[in-house]
Amino acid sequence: MSTETPLDLKKTVNLPKTAFSQKANLAQGEPARLEKWNKLDLYRLIRRAGEGRPKFILHDGPPYANADIHLGTAMNKILKDFIVKSRTMMGYDAPYVPGYDCHGLPIETIVEKALEKKGKKKSELSVETFRRICREHAENALKNQTRDFKRLGILGEWDNPYLTMSNHYEAETARMFARFVERGWVYKGARPVYWCLKDQTALAEAEVEYHQHTSPSVYVKFPLQSDPVLIDPALAGRKVFIVIWTTTPWTLPANLGIAVHPDFEYSAFEHGDEVYIVASELVQAVAAKCGLDSGGEAPKVIARFPGAKLDRLEARHAWLDRPSLLMVGEHVTLGGEADAETELDVSEAQKKSDSKAGTGCVHTAPGHGHDDFVIGKRYGLEIYCPVDNAGRFTPEVEHFAGQRVFDANEPIVEFMRERGVLLFSEKYEHRYPHCWRCKNPVIFRATPQWFIAMDHAHHDLVEKDEDGRDRSNFTDNLPETPAASLRAAALSEIERVNWIPAWGVDRMRNMLKARPDWCVSRQRVWGVSIPVFYCARCNEAVADPSVINHVADIFEKESGDAWYTHSAQELLPPDYTCKGCGAQEWTKESDILDVWFDSGTSSIAVLENRPELRWPADVYLEGGDQFRGWFNSSLMIGIAAHDRAPYKTVVTHGWTLDAQGRAMHKSAGNAVEPDKVIKQSGAEIIRLWCASSNYFDDMRGSDEILQRVTDGYRKLRNTARFALGNLDGFDPARDSVPYEEMEEIDRWALAELSRVTKEVWAAYEAYEFHNVHRALFNFATVTLSARYFDIIKDRLYTFAPRNKARRSAQTALLQIADPLARMIAPILVFTADEIWENLPDRTEPSIHVALFPTAVEESHEALLSEWEQLFSVRDLVLKALEEARTAKQIGSSLQAKVTLHASGRTLELLQRHQSDLRYLFIVSQVELRQSEGEGVSIAISGADGEKCERCWNYSARVGESERYPTVCERCVAALSEIEEGTTDGHG
Ligand SMILES: [Zn+2]
Ligand SMILES: [Zn+2]
Ligand SMILES: [Zn+2]
Repeated sequence: MSTETPLDLKKTVNLPKTAFSQKANLAQGEPARLEKWNKLDLYRLIRRAGEGRPKFILHDGPPYANADIHLGTAMNKILKDFIVKSRTMMGYDAPYVPGYDCHGLPIETIVEKALEKKGKKKSELSVETFRRICREHAENALKNQTRDFKRLGILGEWDNPYLTMSNHYEAETARMFARFVERGWVYKGARPVYWCLKDQTALAEAEVEYHQHTSPSVYVKFPLQSDPVLIDPALAGRKVFIVIWTTTPWTLPANLGIAVHPDFEYSAFEHGDEVYIVASELVQAVAAKCGLDSGGEAPKVIARFPGAKLDRLEARHAWLDRPSLLMVGEHVTLGGEADAETELDVSEAQKKSDSKAGTGCVHTAPGHGHDDFVIGKRYGLEIYCPVDNAGRFTPEVEHFAGQRVFDANEPIVEFMRERGVLLFSEKYEHRYPHCWRCKNPVIFRATPQWFIAMDHAHHDLVEKDEDGRDRSNFTDNLPETPAASLRAAALSEIERVNWIPAWGVDRMRNMLKARPDWCVSRQRVWGVSIPVFYCARCNEAVADPSVINHVADIFEKESGDAWYTHSAQELLPPDYTCKGCGAQEWTKESDILDVWFDSGTSSIAVLENRPELRWPADVYLEGGDQFRGWFNSSLMIGIAAHDRAPYKTVVTHGWTLDAQGRAMHKSAGNAVEPDKVIKQSGAEIIRLWCASSNYFDDMRGSDEILQRVTDGYRKLRNTARFALGNLDGFDPARDSVPYEEMEEIDRWALAELSRVTKEVWAAYEAYEFHNVHRALFNFATVTLSARYFDIIKDRLYTFAPRNKARRSAQTALLQIADPLARMIAPILVFTADEIWENLPDRTEPSIHVALFPTAVEESHEALLSEWEQLFSVRDLVLKALEEARTAKQIGSSLQAKVTLHASGRTLELLQRHQSDLRYLFIVSQVELRQSEGEGVSIAISGADGEKCERCWNYSARVGESERYPTVCERCVAALSEIEEGTTDGHG
């Protein structure tokens, strides 16, 4: 064989070769891969592969189908995809059915605006036509969202998502309402609810947000009507006033009472010939503010008494000819207005801002506040609300009839000033509830609404008082039946749920403890009608579960439009007769259900109704706003249906903010738009961003942050590319080296892989994707790229292709690249699949059908710790080499010879690995010497001999071969192996 011509040296070096390019070209490559998945029908392929495995159900919280996706929506769906894909690869059958929330006010608003642009009005259209346009709008929006979600690499049943506006879903929503009725939890009553004057509808707790707002703050005196001697003999014959404080002067015309705390001490103090009553603790402050302190002197207190003394005495309204009842209530505070932050729950904040504690005497308007309502009910006050849907005073309001409430604030203040009942007024900045849609301040307003009771079963749907008017039977004298209390069941269920992060349970508990009854009626049309009928003769309300289910069956066939296209008689079972008066003529309820009732029904309508799913879900994952929203409404419905929470685990993610921690707004120019990022860098970059920081906190995004993510991506890609390039021509069946015969450093790399595999499994199980990312990124860039790959390069490039030591490195590379790709696959869905395609011999058509690797159970601690010591010596050597390079003593490290002085165990360790050391340090020669002292000392000198033309190592033996006079002895051996190899056909 040596008679043939010598080989061309350059061609004998095994340079990496792979179709996996260095440049990712994600923006072009991703759509092509999506097309491939589409052709494969990848989602069904995964379903078939997972048949018979244990189920894992992530239930999708439906995004609202009214606009294009933004970074927050993208993050939400990507995190869900991380969960579904990781559980699939852990060996579960994890189907993903995405959903869309289709009904509700936001779509109505958009449609109304679009009509206005065309010069049309909603009132000119039939309800059916208007609903059809809303439906078309939702259909379009969800089509666009589906396209965008698919583009992000999210796999799911996109051809069959659940829609809250589908016939079946609407029918299930109506049936769920019947279930609440059956349990006695539904009643109709007048209770104050958040009311948007602009949108003219009630709002749910989750539909208000708090913003800074300036209100007039007023101190007003109410004359005591009862004999003051009843309070204290010292007050005999005096003109006594109760001082109240409020930031909503417009609610004063509806004042029916004043609340004081029974246990606080109150004082009556003199100013001129008048006497004023406020809480003792606040005498100084109130007197100073209202100028009742006689030129700075402390006001003269003439009586002190507990608030209980005032109970059921009467004051007169500040200007109207009617009484204002003095009442005692524990809700009264002295702390002034609390900061009405949305943090924990709205009703708690609202309560505080309603308990205007400026004087310890709380103005009470039962039609305009939650606490006011509760105490008003207890004292038998009317739930008086002289304000219409548009927020105008009704004609019965003297002096201010027809005025809009917010506009009436100033006139009322002026009016009180003229009347001499205003003690003080100023501007007051506070957090105030606003409509989430139109951003206008909302009011609290009592209107007839349908409620779901949190604390009592309601045996009569609508209770009538003596005058025959509807009244809520929210009273304290109904027996509390714990089993039937929604609140009690909810509070106990949340303790069984696994909340991630753990503070979720506190947040939920606080919200549930404070929340008022659930107002489920909305004065709108785009939604599921409340399937209740009224007798046209006696006005009896019929909410009969069997009737509702009858209507639901019609919805199932014809959609909820049937409520509008059919008469009451057509919707009712034949010959349905009023139990009250025997009549057969009926009218229909015109309100629709709260959209949170719709979406809350999803666990029943979707999980129970689709054969591939099951109830309850293993996990829900949504943003922190859903404690009041979907987590809450889903819990209510789970309890009504099965006395159980519909989820086992609830994961909460933070908000997406800009680099400075501000909310993203298109108008502010700080929004990262997914669409743009996808076009410029690829969806993969957004996915990697989602995994790169801790989503339990707020997530920051900006061009600069995404650039850093892109740099990180490039590093991961290069790691993969090195492995793939060096697997060129490797046939695992033919070329793999058995574990026991592998080089020790290769076994070390596998031991490190095993360690990281355990870490990654645990992080995926705990939904800690940032820890998955950290573990994999460190492994790829530090353990592999900066250590292992550097060391094995020489072996891979210069050894004969079939040399066993080279095959050992390749065996390790394949055994690392394959599981590494699997472990990163839930995050880098496109790139992992691309790696998969370029690995030799993969059987599955896509990585997403494959499973995670399992960590090798045997312990490699001895191996790992031995190499840890070698690597710390390596760190010292690399540092010394760097210094030598700076001092121009050497050029490349291969020009160096390293002499190590060591003793004892270190020397033994180094001796044991003598042949590895030159590769470990990437130098041409290493000499070991026994030293006297402790520790390792390092000397760098020029390498002996000549530079080998082929491998660039230095050797004294270059020139020994006549056939290859320019190469070293290692290369001579390699070349002869290659020459032999070429004859037996292995190339
Ligand atoms: Zn509004
Ligand atoms: Zn009747
Ligand atoms: Zn060589």
